[in-house]
Amino acid sequence: MSSEISINLTNSPKPKPKDDQLGFGKIFTDHMFVMDYAEGKGWYNARIEPYGPFLMDPANIVLHYGQAIFEGMKAYRTVDGKITVFRPRSYLSRMNRSAERLCIPPIDVEFVLKGLKKLLSIEKDWVPSGEMTSLYIRPFIIATDSFLGVKPSATYRLFIILSPVGAYYPEGFKPVKIWVESEYVRAVKGGLGFAKTPANYAASLLAAEEAKKKGYTQVLWLDGVEKKYIEEVGTMNIFFKINDELITPPLEGSILGGMTRDSVIQVASQWGLKVSERNISIEEVYAAHAQGTLQEVFGTGTAAVISPVSLLDWNGKVITINNGETGETSLRLYDEITGIQYGKLADKFGWMEEI
Ligand code: PMP
Repeated sequence: MSSEISINLTNSPKPKPKDDQLGFGKIFTDHMFVMDYAEGKGWYNARIEPYGPFLMDPANIVLHYGQAIFEGMKAYRTVDGKITVFRPRSYLSRMNRSAERLCIPPIDVEFVLKGLKKLLSIEKDWVPSGEMTSLYIRPFIIATDSFLGVKPSATYRLFIILSPVGAYYPEGFKPVKIWVESEYVRAVKGGLGFAKTPANYAASLLAAEEAKKKGYTQVLWLDGVEKKYIEEVGTMNIFFKINDELITPPLEGSILGGMTRDSVIQVASQWGLKVSERNISIEEVYAAHAQGTLQEVFGTGTAAVISPVSLLDWNGKVITINNGETGETSLRLYDEITGIQYGKLADKFGWMEEI
């Protein structure tokens, strides 16, 4: 693979949005990083070019059989004016774990990180500066063979696109109401659950829509076999604080190994909190609530960092957690992780990569 990255800059840069226009994933920057793959040739033609649509053959494998993977991470403008990315090597390494499951060739993490940093240096003025805003980074790889047989593609394209995003909690934490899903399942062990691939998100849409119609923000996924053990909440990992112990389901193939999950485990363990990665059933959560030992429930993910859960509805059995308020551990974890991300606190875990 040539280690050169060619650069073709746009002649018509777009106006930058104001912070209050940002939202999530609606606005894209002027440029993207792209590279191609062909069997026997490897990854080649790495380039930065103007952001925009591209032509695709209607028989492209990705449109029919979903051979694709993606990632989602963030760049920040720190309080002292640097542009940094949170744990980029960890996210790109996860992309390679997804790639392996989807028969997509691996990327060279250091080379793609170099391309990402180059793209970010060109787009640095797109990193918003408002409180808790950031630049969302979406790397993805799609199959590009035109062929209707079901088999792995021989060619692929990798893109990295960037989207400035607003504060997730502009008015402070908003604990969410969650529907415990006992009919639909997201993934099973041996399936695709641990991979960041479009099929998992397609599988989740109907349950999430039905939960929304019932007045809930998201669904709590149970395991796909017994519908007993807790897996994830919406597109986040989940933690329970019971008797001063943090419990989160283990990574056994059906759930995504979240970077925020891993960061929460590291931070909480360093604080001296007991953290357990173990199977936890929905019955156990309800029993803990009945005994008064269920203290907090929260989701973790790149977009919101921490998302407190105020209420669970499991087939009509409703429990309210911590009087519907954000718990102290949720708040402390949020402050610590976002503090590191925005350069307000020391980066004691070595998570921030400056561009
Ligand atoms: N689970 C799923 C299904 C997700 O899509 C995400 C978001 N990437 C997460 C968990 C949280 O992962 P992370 O902390 O790496 O964003």
